[in-house]
Parts: sequence; structure tokens; C-alpha cells
Amino acid sequence: MLLARQFNRLYDATLALLYPQACAACDAGHVERRADAPACAACWQATRIFTGAETCCWKCSALALGEVTAEQRADVRCRRCEASAFTAARAVGMYEGALRAAILTLKREPYIGTRLAQLLCAAQRRPPLDVATLIAPVPLHPERERERGFNQATLLARALAQQTRLPLDERSLARITHTMQHRAGMDARARHETVEAAFEVTRPRLIAGERVLLIDDVFTTGATVAACAHALKEAGATDVFVLTVARA
Ligand SMILES: [Zn+2]
Ligand SMILES: [Zn+2]
Repeated sequence: MLLARQFNRLYDATLALLYPQACAACDAGHVERRADAPACAACWQATRIFTGAETCCWKCSALALGEVTAEQRADVRCRRCEASAFTAARAVGMYEGALRAAILTLKREPYIGTRLAQLLCAAQRRPPLDVATLIAPVPLHPERERERGFNQATLLARALAQQTRLPLDERSLARITHTMQHRAGMDARARHETVEAAFEVTRPRLIAGERVLLIDDVFTTGATVAACAHALKEAGATDVFVLTVARA
């Protein structure tokens, strides 16, 4: 163990000397430790990471104004997410700095740094996500996955499953229609309609009774995860929680 750590440190130092990897979030910094990839320590420092003590909608995590006590936190609601089928959605932090860089890099390179994996794990260990029994990634359409070579949500889900030891189901939730790219000017309602019928559960017996933790890279309007949650609930899931790297 100690030897491995020493080796890692030596490896990091050598790597930094030979191939200084530029920070993907700023122009100035370099990635000092492999675990921090793809951002530098300063960018990680500057990124807002949620602690669970924020004042936000308990269900969808939309930031709210003002401060509430820990007991009141479960009663805060934005009301815009009322119709969404998921129980609660959480994110590691804001879509900025190191997290934004990690999400954009993950669309090109199938690699997740240890720091991000550990942050996902910490978010899962906090209530209400801590009762999840099964991890499932938001699926890409097979055509899209072939083009890219991988599904970034699946990579995140695998990294989280490895950290938490929760079982992972990569196949039961499937995307059945190739949703069109969201056009500029499309409102939330239109987005919901585009993705509403896009998902189905192919093996409901593996989902029934589970408290599913749905994984995606970024939570924007919540339309995609709400559509997935709807399909999972139809298949008998007790709860559907959502965990994303960032919240836009
Ligand atoms: Zn940086
Ligand atoms: Zn909400």
C-alpha cells in the first residue's frame, strides 16, 4: 500500500516533468496530480462543490434564496419540478471550473479522475441518495454511442459503482428514439415532449422494487432524467434518485 502510494507520487512527479498536462479549465495551470485530471488544483479550489447544506429545492436541487435550518431543508420546494417522476436529484457541484472541464473532457476521452469519482461517492453517501440500491446510467441512443465509442454516463456510473460497491445495471434502461438536438428557443415544455417517450425498461423484473440511482453528466432542465425516471417507475422502481456531476 505504502509502496503503491510512493510509486504513485513518483509517477505523478515524473509525468508532470515529462508531459505537463495543461489544465482543461484555465489557460495557466497544469494538472499536478493524476487524481485531479483534467483540472489544476486552483481550478478545483474555485469550483463550487455542494456540501448538502445549501438552501435549494429538496427535490430537484434548484438553488433558492435565503437560509433555512437543517430541519426546514426537506420542506424547500421550487414547485417547477412537481410533475417530475424522480424522488430527488443531486449534483456534485455547479457547472463551472473543474466540473465543467471534467464533463467536456469526458465527451472526448473515456477517463474519470479519482477526485471526481470520490466526489460522486460522497454525494451518494448523503441523504436522500444513501438509500439507493441500484445504479443505472442515462442511456445514449445506440447510434450515438457507436459514433462516440462510449457513453459518458455509463463511465460515471461504473466509477461510482466501483467506489460505493452498489450493483450496476447498464442495460435495463434503454433509449428507443433518437431525440433531436434541442433547438435554441425550445422551452421546458417542448423539451419535455421531445424526450418523454424516448426511454423504456427492457427488463422490468430487474428494476421492480429497486431504489434506482440514475447517473448523468449534467442536470440542465431535468427533462431527460425525468423521462428516464418515468420509465423506471412504470417498471416498478420504488424510487428514482438522480446524481449528476454538475447542475447548470
Ligand atoms: Zn486550472
Ligand atoms: Zn425543484
